[in-house]
Amino acid sequence: MAIATDVLARLKDITGPDGWMSDPNLLAPYLSEPRGRFHGNTPLLMQPASTTQVAAIVRECAAHQIPMVPQGGNTGLVGGQTPSPEGVQILVNLGRMNRIRDIDPVAGTMTAEAGCLLASVQTAAREVDRLFPLSLAAEGSCQIGGNIATNAGGTQVLRYGTARALTLGLEVVLADGTIWDGLSPLRKDNTGYDLKHMFIGSEGTLGIITAAVLRLFPQPRQTVTAIAGISNIDGAMKLMERMQAASGERATAFELMSALAVELAVKHMDGVARPLGAQTPWYVLMEFHGGDGDDLGPAVEAGLGQALDDGDVVDGAIAQNAAQAQAMWKLRESIPPAQTKEGASIKNDIGVPGHRAEKFVDACASAIESLVPGSRLVAFGHLGDGNLHMNVSQPPAMEPPAFLDQWDKITGVVHDLTMEFGGTFSAEHGIGQLKRGELVRHKSAAALDSLARIKTAFDPQGLFNPGKIF
Ligand SMILES: Cc1cc2nc3c(=O)[nH]c(=O)nc-3n(C[C@H](O)[C@H](O)[C@H](O)COP(=O)(O)OP(=O)(O)OC[C@H]3O[C@@H](n4cnc5c(N)ncnc54)[C@H](O)[C@@H]3O)c2cc1C
Repeated sequence: MAIATDVLARLKDITGPDGWMSDPNLLAPYLSEPRGRFHGNTPLLMQPASTTQVAAIVRECAAHQIPMVPQGGNTGLVGGQTPSPEGVQILVNLGRMNRIRDIDPVAGTMTAEAGCLLASVQTAAREVDRLFPLSLAAEGSCQIGGNIATNAGGTQVLRYGTARALTLGLEVVLADGTIWDGLSPLRKDNTGYDLKHMFIGSEGTLGIITAAVLRLFPQPRQTVTAIAGISNIDGAMKLMERMQAASGERATAFELMSALAVELAVKHMDGVARPLGAQTPWYVLMEFHGGDGDDLGPAVEAGLGQALDDGDVVDGAIAQNAAQAQAMWKLRESIPPAQTKEGASIKNDIGVPGHRAEKFVDACASAIESLVPGSRLVAFGHLGDGNLHMNVSQPPAMEPPAFLDQWDKITGVVHDLTMEFGGTFSAEHGIGQLKRGELVRHKSAAALDSLARIKTAFDPQGLFNPGKIF
């Protein structure tokens, strides 16, 4: 049912003219997710400037049973932030709540509003000689609230953990408009259920996150970046263990790239060169952070040298300066856009235990070849935490639409294998609208029942982001 005009007028009054949009031309960028798989409609996009405005919006919507869709930077790829097509849901975009409320370098905490860009949070930490380590390719446009709502990971999870580990406290507007002030900087608090964890990864279905206390770390005084060419993924896992021992557990990133992924990046992206003299089936990009007293460079060199001597690594290089380190990262970051330039692709964001990744990737390659002969597996990802992409590029001679018609079949088989190998069918983007069927297919009845009970307890009217996750 269409939302009554008097309710829309009261919502507009809450923020004043700077805090809402209803012109379809202005709304358009907020109504589709980046890959264009989901499109929605809304009569009103709200951009509140304060927590009290968010609370007033939620109260008004709750009083009239109007569904609300929380939205951050609109970078998610599963349609979680996209309203339904009927135009009966209010979009609540947090972009104007972008203040750093407090930063305490000594305590190692920052209180940031939900709409702060991830890149701005990183910069604010750097300005007081601290590190906020969450880092991913969308950091220039995603917001910290969205990162927390999807429990984002990225390249540095191995050392610093996901958004869950980096969030000490939260401020959340609950379903009746109450503000829950959980902005605690405590590292440990055993007073009953730890409520913040309910909202982390909840994809806007339990409440609207308005601010967070984030954990900061010392800025690394030394950073060492290296690339190794290896024969197989088991070898990469062995290398990770060796390099962790050699560096005193200082590896922050351990990124896997298949030969084809590297080949596509070199072929399609300007300024990307082959990383090593030798061409190997797999490559690993490693990064290490150290403090003043560490002897990180020699430690990494010794570890890599020993791996070469033992035949575990075919070739390797350590960046000698910042430009070389940037070139190594550019290669890694070029893989997704290069795959897009190669033609149609079918993508996923699975996770598997690292020690099973070798057999899992082999199983995926043969299953995909049987389904669509000639299609090409472009495997890469964060091997350090098992979050990999088993992306598939079209056979060169196939028409893109015919290949994309195979989306569900290929994804289904990759997800089935992921579960068989003890993994997860989403380690990045979450469920949103795209993977609701997969959630039902792969979660146990006990887990689904518990999730549904939690949803009802926090959002009895079902007004927060309906049609997402469930
Ligand atoms: C190029 C690219 C690379 C990526 N790489 C990685 C990666 O390496 N690792 C990884 O884990 N993820 C990765 N992602 C996914 C990324 O983590 C998410 O897209 C991002 O965290 C979502 O933030 P956002 O502000 O854009 O949220 P949106 O996309 O706007 O929203 C995402 C979800 O969060 C909810 N939400 C947003 N803000 C709030 C709020 N304030 N309160 C409550 N709910 C809210 C929305 O309702 C929606 O369900 C990548 C994405 C892209 C596009």
